[in-house]
Amino acid sequence: MTDRNKIKMKTPLVEMDGDEMTRVLWKLIKDILIFPYVDLNTEYYDLGLENRDRTNDQVTVDSAMATKKYGVAVKCATITPNAARVEEYHLKEMWKSPNATIRALLDGTVFRAPILVRGITPYVPNWKLPITIARHAYGDVYKNVEAAVPAGAKAELLITNPDGTEKKHLIHDFSESAGIIQGLHNLDRSIESFARSCFNFALDTKQDLWFSTKDTISKTYDHRFKDIFRDIFDKEYAEKFQKAGIEYFYTLIDDAVARVIRSRGGYVWACKNYDGDVMSDMIATAFGSLAMMTSVLVSPDGIYEYEAAHGTVQRHYYKHLKGETTSTNSVATIFAWTGALRKRGELDGNTALSDFADKLERATLDTIESGTMTGDLAAMSTLPEIKKADTEGFLQAVQENLEKLL
Ligand code: NAP
Ligand code: MG
Repeated sequence: MTDRNKIKMKTPLVEMDGDEMTRVLWKLIKDILIFPYVDLNTEYYDLGLENRDRTNDQVTVDSAMATKKYGVAVKCATITPNAARVEEYHLKEMWKSPNATIRALLDGTVFRAPILVRGITPYVPNWKLPITIARHAYGDVYKNVEAAVPAGAKAELLITNPDGTEKKHLIHDFSESAGIIQGLHNLDRSIESFARSCFNFALDTKQDLWFSTKDTISKTYDHRFKDIFRDIFDKEYAEKFQKAGIEYFYTLIDDAVARVIRSRGGYVWACKNYDGDVMSDMIATAFGSLAMMTSVLVSPDGIYEYEAAHGTVQRHYYKHLKGETTSTNSVATIFAWTGALRKRGELDGNTALSDFADKLERATLDTIESGTMTGDLAAMSTLPEIKKADTEGFLQAVQENLEKLL
């Protein structure tokens, strides 16, 4: 395509670059699959660990603020520093996870959805459509207080009200045996944001929304989640859902698990923090591969940040640095780009851009379904003839298929 024919973009996309092998993929994807076709307009933030360290992590905050301003971002996987990384990169500090920083600033919920492709069969054979998990990412056991209690002690819950009055609840009288206690909390405000993000995402993707807790046992705590979802749904979303032809469905977590296994897929499953942590790993594995899982952060006011669910694929990066051939799966990162480009197109009324995103996804799936795929998928595919591609070879094959669709 000549520069004149390239698809134009009205509003910039916030681009957050990242680390290691996914940083390598990032550049290849842009060079091979985007630059030749789109006059790419991004506001670029380098969230690579070196630049986060150089800017005292200010770049992460700036990128989140830019996302608030423009409404759509695409993010590369980034290293969350641990002690080993502090040493490896000579970091000034063990910086927080960029995802956690961005999520807190946008007050968002993460939705993870598998990419389904012919030849990679889910372990649950009746799953024909993706199951998207929404995990509430605040509170409960992740912000708990716990303690060991000696035998003979008594544990109580004490609430000091704003007016100074106190209320005590007996947790347990440990006269018979030593034991353990745990204090959990959550915030109405956070649950409300979670609910709105879920309802918005369901509307946006035209899928039913399921929500499950253990409200029969937890009559105040879990029940509050159920009530808040119901209230917000009735007041703000019931009509919109009806118009869109989708449903909101609440059920007990036990019942939800049984229904999920029997289902065909094709809905969003909202989970409390711990349920979402566990179930998202179960769903990812059962659909086949973490490398085929997309992730999008959605704020309650409709801001979207797209990324792959996997990390920076460190082992492949070290091979790459040694000059060895790699076969790293770029599909989830490609879909992060297409998700963001499509959303940018929708918000700007730029049909050409949204159509391009659809075609790039189609071309990616066509490539795998015609037998060309990276090593991780080649090891699982049930297709009769498979051609294992290296990292760049796969992207070139996608480009050939894309050219056929444009
Ligand atoms: P990972 O990068 O997801 O990789 C774990 C393993 O999964 C890889 O070694 C590879 O297996 C396989 N894999 C994952 N993605 C793949 C792909 N696209 N293509 C082929 N194989 C893939 O997780 P990690 O090694 O635990 O974490 C590495 C770094 O990523 C850490 O520093 C972590 O902080 C960061 N991380 C970032 C995010 C994020 O930014 N959202 C999320 C998770 C982790 P084989 O080696 O067997 O081929
Ligand atoms: Mg988990």
